[in-house]
Amino acid sequence: MTAERNPGADAQKAGPKTIGPKTGGPPAAGAAANAARSAGFDATRPPERDLIDDCVHCGFCLPTCPTYQLWGEEMDSPRGRIYLMDLAERGEIGLDGPFTEHIDACLGCMACVTSCPSGVRYNRLLEATRPQIERNVRRTWPDRLFRDAIFALFPYRRRLRAAAVLGVAYRKMRVPRLLARTGIARRLPARMRAAEELLPPVRLRDAFAALPRRTGPPGTAAPRRRVAMLSGCVQDVFFHQANLATIRVLAAEGCEVLVPRAQGCCGALGLHAGREPHAAARAKRTIETFGDLPVDHIVVNVAGCGSSMKEYADLLADDPEWAERARRFSAKVRDVTELLAELLDEDGPAAPRHPIRARVAYHDACHLRHAQGIREQPRAVLRSIPELELVDLPEAEICCGSAGIYNLVQPEAAAELGRRKADNIRAVRPDALVTANPGCLLQVGRYLGDELPLIHPVELLDAAIRGVDIPHGPPPAQGAAVSRKSSSR
Ligand code: SF4
Ligand code: SF4
Repeated sequence: MTAERNPGADAQKAGPKTIGPKTGGPPAAGAAANAARSAGFDATRPPERDLIDDCVHCGFCLPTCPTYQLWGEEMDSPRGRIYLMDLAERGEIGLDGPFTEHIDACLGCMACVTSCPSGVRYNRLLEATRPQIERNVRRTWPDRLFRDAIFALFPYRRRLRAAAVLGVAYRKMRVPRLLARTGIARRLPARMRAAEELLPPVRLRDAFAALPRRTGPPGTAAPRRRVAMLSGCVQDVFFHQANLATIRVLAAEGCEVLVPRAQGCCGALGLHAGREPHAAARAKRTIETFGDLPVDHIVVNVAGCGSSMKEYADLLADDPEWAERARRFSAKVRDVTELLAELLDEDGPAAPRHPIRARVAYHDACHLRHAQGIREQPRAVLRSIPELELVDLPEAEICCGSAGIYNLVQPEAAAELGRRKADNIRAVRPDALVTANPGCLLQVGRYLGDELPLIHPVELLDAAIRGVDIPHGPPPAQGAAVSRKSSSR
C-alpha cells in the first residue's frame, strides 16, 4: 500500500480525536438537520460496555479500513467509530448529526475485525448501533424515501422479477444510451445514477425459472450429505445460473440438494442496515422453512446471506421462543465453498474435473473473508481444477464498495472503492474474476464493464466438472462465452 494511499500511518499512533465536522468524505446524511434528542442510546440492546472497552486504541485496524483509507479521518476509522459509541454509551453525545454520519459511512465490511489483534468484536458493536440509529434518528425525507424504496424492492422476489421485466424494456428501448448521449445521466442525483448503473442485465427466462426441488447425486449411491439450499432474492432472479451451478456441483460431489419452494428473503440486507424488526421477522420465517428439514447443512452461495444466517443465534438470543431454534439453525449453515472444501478434505473430489487453462483472480467478498472467516476454502476448491492459475488481488482485504446497500446509499465512496478494486483486478491481468457475492459481481462489473467474465466460484467449478467453457457471467446480455483455452492477456 503506498504512503499516499495510507494516510493512517501516522494517525495509528494518535488516539481518538474530538468529534467535529469532517474535512472530506461522504456526503452528510442530512442528520444534522434533525431535531436534537436526548443523548445516548436507548435501553434496547445498546452496544455492550465490555465490547467497547475491549478496544485499546492501538490503530492496527486502520490500514484495512476502507473509509479511513479514503479520507484519513479518525472518526471514519474503526477506532474512531468505537470512540463515538463509547461517548454515546456514556450519554455524552446524541445519535443524530456526526454520530449518524460516521456510522452510516461504515461499510460493515468487518476488515477491522480480522485485523484487530485484541479481538474487538466490531461486528457486534455495529449491529447493536445501527438499530439504535434506525429507531432514534429521524432521517431527511429523501433519505427515508430512498431507503424505504430499497427495502420495498430487494427482499421480494416477485417485485424483483417485475423490476427485471422493466429493466429489460429499459435496455431494449436504449434508454441508458439516450440518457448518456443527452447528458441527463450525468445530471442525475448520485444515488439515482448508481441505481441506474448497477441495474443488472438479466435473461427473463432465468428471472422466472424455478429451481428443482430435489436433486440427488448421480447413480444409486447414498448421498454423502443431505443439504437444503437458500436460493436468495437477487441471486435467484439475477444470478439464477449461479444457483443452478451450485445444485449441479453439490450433486456431482455426492450431495442430495433440497430447495424449499416456500423460502423468502433471509433478512441479510435488513440486518446489516440496522432494520432489526425486518431482519428478525425474516430470520424466523427462514428458520421455519429450513429448520425442521432432515438435512445435515443449510447451504448458501451468497456471502452476505450466509453471514446473516450464521448470526441468527445472536439476533434472536433474547427471544425465549426462538433463541434455541436460531442457535441450532445457525450451527447448520455453511457457505457452499466451505462445504465443498470439507468434502474435498474428507475424500477428495467425487467428480472428475476437466482442465481449465486460464488465469483466474479471486476476489474475497467481505462477508465471506471477514465476517465468516472463510478465506482458504474457496481457494482450495478452485485449486482442485487442473491447470487453473489462481491469483490473489493486491489490497485483497479492502472492500469493493458493494457492502449490501452501501453502493446505493453512499454512492461516492462506493464509486472510489469500486474503481480502486477494478484497478487492482486489472493489475493482475486475469482471464476471469470469481467472487462469491452478487453484490460484488455487480459492483466490480460497473467498473470493469465487459472486460472479462465475472462469475461465482461454483460456476467455474461447474464448468470444470462439465467440461464446458467459462460462462461469461454478468452481463449475460452480452452472451459471449470465453474459451477455457483462450487468454485475453
Ligand atoms: S479495534 Fe482493535 S485494532 Fe482497532 S484500535 Fe481498537 S484494539 Fe486496535
Ligand atoms: S466495518 Fe469496514 S468500514 Fe466499518 S470500521 Fe470496520 S473496516 Fe472500517
